Order: sequence, then C-alpha cells, then structure tokens
Amino acid sequence: MSRTRKPAADPATPAAPPSPAPAESAAKAPLSRTQRALIATRLSEAEQLCNDRGTLLTPLRREVLKLLLERGGSAKAYDLHDDMRNAHGRVAPMTVYRALDFLMQMQLVHRVDSLNVFIACSHGEADSPDHNHDALMLVCTRCDKVVEQAAHEVASRLSTELAERFGFAAQGVEVKGLCRECAATDRRAADPSETARR
Ligand SMILES: [Zn+2]
Ligand SMILES: [Zn+2]
Repeated sequence: MSRTRKPAADPATPAAPPSPAPAESAAKAPLSRTQRALIATRLSEAEQLCNDRGTLLTPLRREVLKLLLERGGSAKAYDLHDDMRNAHGRVAPMTVYRALDFLMQMQLVHRVDSLNVFIACSHGEADSPDHNHDALMLVCTRCDKVVEQAAHEVASRLSTELAERFGFAAQGVEVKGLCRECAATDRRAADPSETARR
C-alpha cells in the first residue's frame, strides 16, 4: 500500500463546497447508533462554538471535522483527504488543510506534531466554557495512541513555567512515553512471574 503525499499541488483550485454528505462513507467500519449520536452532538457543539465566536462552521469545515470524528477522532491529513474524495469526489488537498487550519484556530482540532496527526479536541463545553485551553497530549511511542487529557492545570502550569523561566511561549504540550496498556505489557515482560502466576 503506497500513499503518495504530495504537498498541495494546486492551491489555486477553488474550494468547492461539498454536496450534502451521503448516508454512509465508504471504506470505514460502520459506526454504531451511539457513536453517530455522539458525533452529531460534537458537531452541533462545534457549530455553537463558532457562532459564539462570530465565525461560521461552514459545511466544508463541518464535513472535515465529521470525517475526523468518524475516524475515531485522530487521523492524518491525507486520510481525511481520501475520505473527502470518497464522499465528495475530487477535492484539492489544500481544501482539507485550510479546513483543518480553521478547526485548529477554533481549538476544535489539535495537531500532534510528533505523529503528524490531527485529533479532535476531546473537551466538551463543560470542561472549558470559553474553549481556550493548553492541550496536553500524551503520545504513546509504541502503539501511536494519542490521548488528550483534560488536565488543563498541568499544561497551564508548565506553560507558565516555561514562559517565566525561558520566555518560551508554549503552544500545547506533547509528552511522549508509553500508554497504560503498553507500559503494562513492558512490566509483564520484565517480570515473567507476573504472567506465570495468572
Ligand atoms: Zn483540546
Ligand atoms: Zn501504547
């Protein structure tokens, strides 16, 4: 399987607004009714947030966010571009990038640089009414799982510290390591008796 990742070849291509989404997107595991309901809620929250900020979650931006949520909340840009093409035909990569840029400005989406993936912000309005937050990302280097922790105070403390000590303006925090599951696997490997006892 080879994917070619071209940089936006044709930035001048006008961003055609997508036609209404078809009932189902191709090549993805079907989502349960609960998952669909959850995604619908996240999308209307996102719309509300944009309205509150005097901007607009256009159908195109909404569609990119929806596709990201349908991929379980984390995806590479070219996967989203594939999904867009599957759902709507020819779409310039730049169109997807621009939508992602907007979603990042709104903090509805964060980029995880170390994995080069985009993740949908996991904070509801309740966690962060103004939705201004330092994202704290825990990145597992083994299974590539990314979890955004709703621990703003940890990220904010670190940001403040970095600013005061080094004059460094942090934009979110990514911490690499092993997730709970991978760390547990490591511990079992280091201590086989733990497995043998089971
Ligand atoms: Zn977030
Ligand atoms: Zn892991």
